[in-house]
Amino acid sequence: MSEANGAGEGSALRYGVIGHPVAHSLSPVIQAAFAREAGLAIDYVRILSPLDGFADAAQRFFAEGGRGLNVTLPFKLAACAFCGPHASDRARLAGAVNWLAWTDEGPLGDNTDGIGLVGDLARLLAGADALRDQRVLLIGAGGAARGVVGPLLDRYPRSLTLVNRDPDKAAGLVSLFERPDVLGCTTFDALADASFDVVVNATSASIAGQRLPLPASLFDGVALAYDMMYAAEATPFLIEAGRAGARMTADGLGMLVEQAAESFRLWHGIAPETASVLHGLRLTLTSATVR
Ligand code: NDP
Repeated sequence: MSEANGAGEGSALRYGVIGHPVAHSLSPVIQAAFAREAGLAIDYVRILSPLDGFADAAQRFFAEGGRGLNVTLPFKLAACAFCGPHASDRARLAGAVNWLAWTDEGPLGDNTDGIGLVGDLARLLAGADALRDQRVLLIGAGGAARGVVGPLLDRYPRSLTLVNRDPDKAAGLVSLFERPDVLGCTTFDALADASFDVVVNATSASIAGQRLPLPASLFDGVALAYDMMYAAEATPFLIEAGRAGARMTADGLGMLVEQAAESFRLWHGIAPETASVLHGLRLTLTSATVR
């Protein structure tokens, strides 16, 4: 695995992750582990795109022989536009693409964030059916939240409630799905009188170490409080949730590995084993901070 501008070399198939910034991305480590296990020769690079030059950078990568890209912040919406009509239904519904592959017809786009989240929730809650009949709160209405609403609904929760700092964005997202029987939104103020089984933080507040305006009562008896952000140390959201009575807390490292596994499967037709990769990444993340 190397860090480069996408130019091809040797016989390894070229893949990459494109973003701004991108140096922090763990995707090359994960994809390298999957490729080793599958016995595939793959060169997976980090590509730093100018903020105003995503389409050019992606186009150049594919023109130089690149086979596929993962897309990270802040280009998931631009990647959806880049694919035009060749984005999958779930990506178009999300309005966000984090997976690209080159085909004869041009770039094909998909969104693997939702599969990543529900896969990790199934791992943590011990079963693919674990969300059935559960009351789920999703905090946030940005790119990540948009990608996970559909896959969460596919797991038959009793209710899926969205809350966002900008309530119009949450209402707009809810309206895309036409599922008033299950899907709705609320306000931060109203959370004092609400209860849920699973609470998912899909905001970027944790990146800045910011606290969300959540009542402590929200976490009392909650089966799982999940923060999509991952870090060596527990985020403010997870610390508060644990103190206020959540029975289990988890960050998004497992989601990252699961969405990467789905990317790998879509590109290569092989579903990689994820448990050992997650374990290794967790150790790396923790020891990087201790040092
Ligand atoms: P976006 O920038 O698209 O959306 C940010 C969201 O966070 C918006 O809903 C925004 O609210 C909300 N927000 C930001 N700051 C605050 C705050 N201080 N208080 C309340 N709400 C706030 O980001 P993404 O959706 O792409 O990413 C969200 C998080 O998910 C990030 O932490 C990212 O790292 C993580 N993520 C993890 C993945 C994984 O595999 N583990 C995959 C994808 C994302 P508003 O609309 O009002 O501005």
